[in-house]
Amino acid sequence: MVNKRKLEARKRIALVAHDNKKKELIDWAIYNKTALSRHELVATGTTGKMLEEALDRSVKKLLSGPLGGDQQIGAMIAEGQVDVLVFFWDPMEAQPHDPDIKALLRLAVTWNIPFACDRATADFLLTSPLMHEAYTCIIPDYSTYIKREVK
Ligand code: PGA
Repeated sequence: MVNKRKLEARKRIALVAHDNKKKELIDWAIYNKTALSRHELVATGTTGKMLEEALDRSVKKLLSGPLGGDQQIGAMIAEGQVDVLVFFWDPMEAQPHDPDIKALLRLAVTWNIPFACDRATADFLLTSPLMHEAYTCIIPDYSTYIKREVK
C-alpha cells in the first residue's frame, strides 16, 4: 500500500534562517510577500519575529533554533503539520545546535518534504505551480522497518 499525504493549496511553510542568513531570508520574503500571503507561515523564534515585522502579518513562532525550535519543526514534519521547509542554514559557521540542523534536514528527506536551503531553490519552489494547488505527496514506505523483528 502506498502512503500518501495531501498538501492543500494553502501550504504550511516552515522558515528558519541562521543569523548570517537572516537578511537574505527576509529580503526573499519581502520580495515574495504576495505569493507568501497565500500560505501559513511557521518559523523559529527570531526568524519568525523578523518575518512578522517585515511582512506585517502573523507568523506562528516556535522556540529559537538553538533552544529547540529546529526540533519543534522536525516534530511537526514527522506529524504531517508542515508542507514545505525553507531553511537558510549557514555553510560558513558552525552552530551550537549543529546536530539539530542535521536532524531537521534528515526529517525533511525522511518524510519527502519539499525544502529549499538557498535563495535560488526557494525561488524555484515558490514559483512552482504545485505551490498554489493541492498536491498529493507519496510518503516513503517504512512498513518493513516498522514491522521488523528486533531480537
Ligand atoms: P532563530 O533560530 O530563528 O530563533 O534565530 C534559527 C536557528 O538558528 O535555527
